[in-house]
Amino acid sequence: MDCLFCKINNNEIPSYTIYEDEFVRCFLDINPISDGHTLIIPKKHFTDINDIDLKYLCKIQEVSKRIVKLLNDKLKPDGIKLVQNNGVLQEVKHYHLHVIPHYNKNKKNKVEDIYKIIVKN
Ligand code: 5GP
Ligand code: ZN
Repeated sequence: MDCLFCKINNNEIPSYTIYEDEFVRCFLDINPISDGHTLIIPKKHFTDINDIDLKYLCKIQEVSKRIVKLLNDKLKPDGIKLVQNNGVLQEVKHYHLHVIPHYNKNKKNKVEDIYKIIVKN
């Protein structure tokens, strides 16, 4: 299947992955709204909220708490929002949850530099 995020899951396309396990992968958005903008995707292909298995949906929600904590610890945003687009709002047709930090003073750094800050101990 010609799916961009399946290719990221299969390491055919590189990504700044900040967490992964058996069920999900979390990586930095290539065109971020803000520093630390992260996408959480299932390791199995689902299109959107209509066809995703509840097991994967729950795993994604569970991991979203971990990612929110990681971003809060490393980047100290003033807020974080979670967004999941469907239908005409969705550009990439592989289910994904956006984790989008908000900064009162909008910072915008290179994705590579943000990746280094997040993954370093
Ligand atoms: P959607 O509009 O489908 O909810 O969001 C798709 C997101 O995927 C966008 O924020 C876009 O910047 C991101 N994106 C598209 N192509 C790539 C890619 O090749 N790598 C990464 N890391 N993000 C991508
Ligand atoms: Zn896919």
